[in-house]
Amino acid sequence: MAEKRDYYEVLGLQKGASEDEIKKAYRKLAKQYHPDLNPDDPKAEEKFKEINEANDVLSDPEKRAKYDQFGHAGVDPSYGGGGYGGGFGGFSAEGMDFGDIFETFFGGGGGTQRSNPNAPRRGSDIAVSLDISFMEACKGISHEIEITRAETCQSCHGSGAKAGTSPKTCPECNGSGQVRVQQRGLLGMMVTTTRTCTKCGGRGKIIETPCPDCNSGRVQKRKKVVVNVPAGIDNGQTLSIRGEGNCGINGGPNGDLNVRITVRKDPLFERKGFDVWCEIPITYTQAVLGDELTVPTIDGNVKYSIPEGTQPGTVFRLRGKGIQKLQRDGRGDQMVRVIIEVPKRLNKKQKEALQAFEKELDNSNYEKRSGFFDKLKQFGEDIKKNFQ
Ligand SMILES: [Zn+2]
Ligand SMILES: [Zn+2]
Repeated sequence: MAEKRDYYEVLGLQKGASEDEIKKAYRKLAKQYHPDLNPDDPKAEEKFKEINEANDVLSDPEKRAKYDQFGHAGVDPSYGGGGYGGGFGGFSAEGMDFGDIFETFFGGGGGTQRSNPNAPRRGSDIAVSLDISFMEACKGISHEIEITRAETCQSCHGSGAKAGTSPKTCPECNGSGQVRVQQRGLLGMMVTTTRTCTKCGGRGKIIETPCPDCNSGRVQKRKKVVVNVPAGIDNGQTLSIRGEGNCGINGGPNGDLNVRITVRKDPLFERKGFDVWCEIPITYTQAVLGDELTVPTIDGNVKYSIPEGTQPGTVFRLRGKGIQKLQRDGRGDQMVRVIIEVPKRLNKKQKEALQAFEKELDNSNYEKRSGFFDKLKQFGEDIKKNFQ
């Protein structure tokens, strides 16, 4: 049995396709491959079913979200039990009521034809989230997490039948899980409908003595998994650990464990791309006279000298002190913004000292102020002349 095709691919669409695009693509293809219109093409029926199955999932926002997240495992009825609901909205195209034809084909909710129940199927993925600190994200970390996942039962080796016994092939459907029913279609032709076998519930096998240790050959187990978080990971990224998800069915491969990383906010640092930003408050005097500052970086504290006359908001760059680029060489930079904290609650003596200091200054000490006062004067004259 061939691997199931991607539903978007089946409808010839991209993953982000709009509802309207899905509807249009479906109508076009359903018309093209409808078996009643292609009586000489045995492949048309298969194709038609594939198109309907894809549409059934992609046109339903809930199913589509599951499919986008987990792939076929998220919507395959054999994982969650229960067939697809019929529920095809009726609409007319060139005088034909497709809704009725769908009823005929799918028996109004009887379930679509399904792949061989004995074929190996991949296990479903497991999604978990992991909270790490800013520094852990910068440096990388190994984290042990505990998950619950389905594993193949060791007592029955996944057969679901008690040790020493084995499942019998269902006599009703000969192991296919499906029975075929002939019905007269809307256009008067005989059409074949497939329904899930009621005797075995579509499993193709009958277990006379179930294994006492499991549920259909699978057991839920707690398991510790080490997650190696690489240096440079960002908030919201997902790490996929191959084969650590739920076990496969009929010897199929395991699903994956998808770990979504949440990075906690840091009191000192903020990430922008691969650069790390931080803000350092300095005093007015440090800004005026220059000083050697202690600057925190993700590698530890470093010294950095700011020059005389450093202006508020100045940003300086420490090259290569940023975050490791994932799957690439090199690191981002650290950007340090200097802010000047204006002192508050001065006492009388402090205020007098500041006023005495201010008196010693003149325009030659300031670059912006003299120019600004000229502009201010000009603005005052303009507004008087033209707007008052
Ligand atoms: Zn068992
Ligand atoms: Zn059966």
